[in-house]
Amino acid sequence: MDKKATKQQPEELDLFVIGGGSGGVRAARMAAGRGARVALAEMGELGGTCVNVGCIPKKLYSYAAGYAEAFEEAAGYGWDLGQAPRLDWGRLKAARAQEIHRLNGIYQSLLEGPGVEIIRDRATMVDAHTVAAGGRHWRAKHVLIATGGRPFKPPVPGHELALVSDDMFDLDPFPKRLVVVGAGYIACEMASIFNGLGAQVTLLQRGAHMLGAFDEDVRSFVAAEMGKTGVDIRLSTQITSMRRGNGGLNLMLDRGQDLQADAVLMATGRVANTDDLGLEAAGVKLSDRGAVVVDAQFRSSVPHIFAVGDASSRLHLTPVALAEAMVVVDMLFPEAGRSPRQAPDYDFVPTAVFTHPNIGTCGYTEAQARAQLGNDNVSVYCTEFKPLRHTLSGRSERTFMKLLVAKDSDRVVGLHMVGADAGEIVQGFAVAMQAGATKAHFDRTIGIHPTAAEEFVTMRVPNVG
Ligand code: FAD
Ligand code: NDP
Repeated sequence: MDKKATKQQPEELDLFVIGGGSGGVRAARMAAGRGARVALAEMGELGGTCVNVGCIPKKLYSYAAGYAEAFEEAAGYGWDLGQAPRLDWGRLKAARAQEIHRLNGIYQSLLEGPGVEIIRDRATMVDAHTVAAGGRHWRAKHVLIATGGRPFKPPVPGHELALVSDDMFDLDPFPKRLVVVGAGYIACEMASIFNGLGAQVTLLQRGAHMLGAFDEDVRSFVAAEMGKTGVDIRLSTQITSMRRGNGGLNLMLDRGQDLQADAVLMATGRVANTDDLGLEAAGVKLSDRGAVVVDAQFRSSVPHIFAVGDASSRLHLTPVALAEAMVVVDMLFPEAGRSPRQAPDYDFVPTAVFTHPNIGTCGYTEAQARAQLGNDNVSVYCTEFKPLRHTLSGRSERTFMKLLVAKDSDRVVGLHMVGADAGEIVQGFAVAMQAGATKAHFDRTIGIHPTAAEEFVTMRVPNVG
């Protein structure tokens, strides 16, 4: 319980939101906009992971890294850039910090506008209806747990010397040699970003593949492309210990080699922020990984306590947290004359990994498609090509696209791309897939020429099936 909490009469609310990140802010401002009495507690900066140490600063740094490629390519297009361009890391960090500060202010206004009471403190549950925060007790009809997650570091000896993704945005000095442990979203994105910004990057993955949840062909294609950009990818390699040495950090690997680095990033997954929140006292069930267990309506084992976003056990993406938050608000505070939103269709959530080149994907991987639809019921269409841009740029980067089609229904059930702007391209196709588009619809669609995206509507002959 919050030590500062007083014994005064608890404030009565319709909704108390714990956490001012993507999900929490969306729920609080929507509920308040519909007339509910709402308070939101945030112990850090408003906007949560996405705004402060996730999607937004990461994408800004990914753009920064992209300039390195653009400078290289420009010569092929007749540009003479004179002296080799040089990154001012300090200036980039300052520009990022200023933009994030601006966004923090926007989030505050979004909450204040409809009248959400913002409590800048850590909140804990005292009992199933009472929350302690900001030195007060609040009694709420409904509570939303939107506390997000935090990085997890495996306890290898010396792990305290390793950084987590939160630390990467303000690193000082810029690491000349960076080792990234893991090969999920964060590891791959950070490896690409720091490689582009000028670090010598080595990525260590314990398994035989990067990006375990992605399509098999996508995984190998992106590994090859990242390798071409200069990232040293070492698969089936584990770090066994690390310690500080004269020339930086010394890492021991399971194959007996060692490695030196200026910085080590452990991007080895995230865990839900549910510790010491009073959830057990309130009767809320947690999974063995600490995530709040929710039903299809995001209701926990205690019917008036809900959880959305990274604090619960589904997909950990900002738009998913937003969608879940809106489902909860529609259910608790329905708008007259409008039917409530449905829970997201988790099978067809589009997602991108902002590696260089990007990955964009929607729907099943080939293995999932075969498992869900039957091994012989899947047609596979693949293409791989040198994008027009690189005919003059001098780069050897290639683009990969893959479609998975259910043979019995002709529905497109998987769409994958590795290449420039894959996230931007796949977003549009995801609408079609959500609407149940068939391969015949794709075939009837006229391409936009000359684009890479047009290849998705011109693949005529299946490679398999
Ligand atoms: P969060 O945004 O994490 O917000 C939770 C908030 O709760 C935090 O501000 C925290 O301080 C606060 N809090 C926790 N406990 C308490 C408490 N007891 N009292 C008060 N406040 C509390 N997703 C994408 O879709 N696209 C991307 O490109 C992308 N990139 C990412 C890059 C990185 C490096 C990381 C780490 C994540 C990225 N994600 C991305 C994932 C995305 O950031 C999360 O899925 C999303 O932020 C989850 O939102 P949330 O509301 O559940 O939690
Ligand atoms: P991921 O689950 O994507 O990846 C974790 C990685 O760490 C895997 O390669 C995993 O290996 C490895 N790993 C886990 N435990 C250990 C261990 N004990 N020792 C060595 N390696 C280990 O998590 P991330 O932290 O990268 O990202 C968390 C989530 O954040 C993502 O799943 C995604 O939902 C979200 N995110 C989204 C982004 C986007 O939308 N662009 C960007 C960044 C994050 P193995 O494969 O063998 O299990």
